[in-house]
Order: sequence, then structure tokens, then C-alpha cells
Amino acid sequence: MSGVVVVGAGIVGSSVTYHLARQGVPVTLLEQGPAPAAGVTGDSFAWIRESGGRWPGGAQDLHEYVRADYRRLESELPHITVRRTGSLSWADTPAAVSQPGPGQFRIGRRDITALEPHLVHPPEQAVHTPSDAGVDPTALSHALVTAACAHGATVLHDTAVTSLQLTNGRVEGVLTSAGPHAATTVVLTAGTNIPELCAPLSADLAMAAAPATLARVAAPPGLVKTIVAGPDFEVREVRDGDLLLVVPHVADTAAAYEQAAQRALQHLKTAFQGSDRCRLLGYRTGRRPMPAHGPVIGYATHDRSVYVAVMHSAITLAPTVGRLVADELVTSRPAPELRRCRPRVL
Ligand SMILES: Cc1cc2nc3c(=O)[nH]c(=O)nc-3n(C[C@H](O)[C@H](O)[C@H](O)COP(=O)(O)OP(=O)(O)OC[C@H]3O[C@@H](n4cnc5c(N)ncnc54)[C@H](O)[C@@H]3O)c2cc1C
Repeated sequence: MSGVVVVGAGIVGSSVTYHLARQGVPVTLLEQGPAPAAGVTGDSFAWIRESGGRWPGGAQDLHEYVRADYRRLESELPHITVRRTGSLSWADTPAAVSQPGPGQFRIGRRDITALEPHLVHPPEQAVHTPSDAGVDPTALSHALVTAACAHGATVLHDTAVTSLQLTNGRVEGVLTSAGPHAATTVVLTAGTNIPELCAPLSADLAMAAAPATLARVAAPPGLVKTIVAGPDFEVREVRDGDLLLVVPHVADTAAAYEQAAQRALQHLKTAFQGSDRCRLLGYRTGRRPMPAHGPVIGYATHDRSVYVAVMHSAITLAPTVGRLVADELVTSRPAPELRRCRPRVL
């Protein structure tokens, strides 16, 4: 039996491969880059939101499982670190602060200062989400792939899939830079490259590749304690003394990105006392796969030879999605949680 081939070792492909391998499925993961998380996953802010935020389309049916699936992964992969710091969000004026949802609380200046003691001008009000967390997305992808290998998966880096291998209208594997790979099912987790790989199929997989820039900043450890989302920036500590800072989107030129990264650093320095020694380590712009109507997860052909899994906020959703996709592929029973995520197959 040729088994399952998964294309792309971002957070989604790493999670799907891990969950298939731990169920004993013969699985091969093909990644064009030299290591996992070579795509947008490596450039992610990686805020794990359990409440609040936007949950488009079928994502609404998935977010209730996020906490339990992350807890489960932490027990299965003991070397991953989920930083459960909670988050603080506020807007320019108290009136514009969003209404708290379930698991969220509107708090005042005294509580904000207790949570973020280094803020120079704490806002009057903010929404506090104690359950929010962050993860190192590259480390998590590596941990998933390592654990998948321990369960018998084969992982090939520097192996770009050039096309699906079609025989008499059926996909029987993939063609790669290193030769063909036969598969009973091809799972496409190649992020923004999925539409191109699916071009020969009659599936509607239109999606945007939305740019977003992330800066890395060296800072005194503990300067930022929670995930802070103010009107001028989003920042969190990914590990001691290492901050991730989301840079507001600007015109798509190198000079504009450099200026925007420097401006975001200045905002950070103005907002936090003790940040004079903060230093920009670098910044990168990733292209986020953004299907128009929420996650797209399911078979992309009527004969079930090709399966796709692509979504925004995939750092939050990948543990749950990996589990559900593996269950579907192993049992052939559709997961009800994914019923609103199906690709349109023409
Ligand atoms: C600045 C920024 C902030 C973000 N913040 C958050 C956040 O706070 N929370 C959150 O949940 N999400 C966030 N996201 C979004 C999140 O990062 C993405 O949803 C997620 O990383 C997508 O993962 P993926 O596995 O689908 O794609 P990718 O990580 O792009 O993985 C696809 C992989 O496929 C490989 N590949 C592509 N084509 C081929 C081919 N032909 N052959 C072989 N391999 C191939 C690529 O090299 C890549 O490794 C953010 C993104 C950015 C850029």
C-alpha cells in the first residue's frame, strides 16, 4: 500500500502528518524547504485565541476544541511550550474597546497595570482574555514532525511537489523535484500554493495570499508579560528576552517595510518603560493563506484521491484540524465538526 502523501510542512501539514502517524497510517511528508515551518508558519505571531477574534465560516465550529487539543498536544509532546499569559486588547478610546465575549473581561487601569507593569500610559479600559496563549510556531512544527517520525512517518525536505500525478483522471500520487511519489490519498497542506497545485482539478479553491509583517525584537526579559494588542501594535514575548511584534501593513516595497518595522519599534519603546535597550533583530513578511469564507478542509475530488486543508489562524486551529483530518482519513467517516469547511467540488 502506498499510503498518504502530505504536501507542505507548515503547522497544518506537520499536525496532519503527526496525527496520521500516531494512528499507524503509512505517511510521507514532502516539504520544498530545508526544514518544517519554511513558509508563513515561521513568520507568524502565533497567538492562540480561544475566545474573541474572528471565526469565519466553519472556524466557528472548531474553536471550542482549541484548548483541549493544545492541552493534549502538550502532554503528548513534552518539549513544546505554550505560554499561557492571557491577552490585553484595547482601542484608541474606551468606547471603541470591543464588547467582551465569553471568557473575556473588561478591566480598568489598575488591573491593566497589575498585568503589564511596564506600560507608560496604561489605557483606561481593556479586554482581558486570561485563556489566550502563544507558542513558538517553528518549534511546534519541528516537534510535531519529530514525533511523526518517531511514529514511523517519512519526512523529505528540499522536495518540491511540481504537480499532481494524474492517470486516467485519477490522482495516483505527486511528481516532485526528486521523482514521483505514489499515494492512495494526497493531502495538500501547501498554504498559498494549493490553488496552483489544484489547477487540474475541478474544485473551487480561490483564496487570497494576504501579506503581514512580523518583527523580532531583543528586549529585557519580562518587559512584556501578556499578549498586548493596542491600537498601534501587537506584541508578545515568545521566549525570555525575545519579542514578536506585528508591523502594520504598508505598501509592498522593501523601503516601506523597513520604515514600518522601525516605526513599530518606536511605538513599542514609547509604550513600555525600560525598553531603551530594545533592538530590532529583523523582520519578515509572510503571505497568509486566506480562503474567503473560512477554513477549507476536505476532499477536493469526488474519488477522494485529493484532500485539502487550508485556513487562516492555523496556529490556533492546527492541533484540532490535524486530529479531525486524521480521523476522517482513517475511518472514512465525515467529521461533523468540519461540515461547514468543505471545498466546493464542481
Ligand atoms: C505576521 C503574521 C501574524 C500571524 N498571526 C497569527 C496568530 O496570531 N494566530 C494564528 O493562529 N495565525 C496567525 N497567522 C497566520 C498563520 O501563521 C497561518 O494561518 C499558518 O502559518 C498557515 O499555515 P500553513 O501550514 O497552512 O501554511 P505554511 O506555513 O505556508 O505551510 C505550507 C508549507 O508548504 C510548503 N510548500 C508549498 N508548496 C509546496 C510544494 N509545491 N511542494 C512542497 N512543499 C510546498 C511550504 O514551503 C510551507 O512550508 C499569522 C501570520 C502572519 C504572517
